[in-house]
Amino acid sequence: MHGRYSYLCLYPFLPVASEYVKESGLTLDHLISSVPARIRARERVIEAIRTGCVERSVITDELQAQMELLSYPFARILVSCIRDPYLVRRYALAEAKGAYRRIMEDLHHGIDILYKLAVDLDIHAEISSGYVLLPFTDYLRLTLNLRDKRWKLVNRSLVQGKVKLNVSEFVRLLQEAIYERVMKGLPLDVPEEICNSLRAHIEQIKQELVLRRTKTDEFRAPSGGEPDSFPPCIKTILRNLEEGMNIPHSARFAVTAFLLNAGLSVEEVIELYRNSPDFNESMTRYQVEHIAGVRGGTRYTAPSCATMRTYGNCVGKDELCEKVSHPLSYYRLKLKNKKP
Ligand code: SF4
Repeated sequence: MHGRYSYLCLYPFLPVASEYVKESGLTLDHLISSVPARIRARERVIEAIRTGCVERSVITDELQAQMELLSYPFARILVSCIRDPYLVRRYALAEAKGAYRRIMEDLHHGIDILYKLAVDLDIHAEISSGYVLLPFTDYLRLTLNLRDKRWKLVNRSLVQGKVKLNVSEFVRLLQEAIYERVMKGLPLDVPEEICNSLRAHIEQIKQELVLRRTKTDEFRAPSGGEPDSFPPCIKTILRNLEEGMNIPHSARFAVTAFLLNAGLSVEEVIELYRNSPDFNESMTRYQVEHIAGVRGGTRYTAPSCATMRTYGNCVGKDELCEKVSHPLSYYRLKLKNKKP
């Protein structure tokens, strides 16, 4: 299948796709009574929970394309009925990551896809086959959540007052724009009777969520660490990582050094970063091994409470915090107090 329709069903979060749905006269009732769209919508959400990425589905005819297109607003309804902030973020990120992969695949057929998406996402890019120029305002908005130093303005070249990017960097920023777009309005205000009529799908999704959380918790309780006894600052960073939030470099360093010193292995720490929007296994491995002293020979200790405060990472202080000056001391004290 080719043409406008296949484009819309692969990128259903675009404003042009919702306009198409409206113009075609499809109402909420149509949507809710379409069994294939409901099933595909549930799959979208479950895939987001399980793998963190909504993959391209095989589209062979118009009917299937329509169902694929409708499954997106339906998936938003399902996510909204559950109203779990973790699910909302994970779902939006999974749609954005899936779109990133589809764009990279579509680039094999030329750069037209970049023009179309830039226009449809209201990004004022100048695109040529080798590079893309982006106005400051767009660049700053789209890099707001990206922590890697390569995105800092001082590390970018400017051409005619615009920020120069290579094509894959631009696609990465499109992913950010898509994430923003999917998040917009979520969770929707869905009438209770509609949520009730979708109970069976919602229950399945909730079960997947429980399963996912259980797996994460199992993982978070490896031989060397007792997460219940971690200090509030470390628990907060871990929760943010689990929810796929981008966290600052200082917090990444703090949590990595803390966990390694609490007895987690390099592999276990790497796993914790898998949900990060920018996860890159070899880069993460390099950084974790560096902090663990596998590379360079120096094993780093976690930052003290004073340093955590300086970088804004001392969050959720409790009574025990008053007695310690280091997150690792908090952990040891809590473990000691727990012993019978
Ligand atoms: S006082 Fe120390 S241990 Fe407690 S939350 Fe702040 S940084 Fe963490």
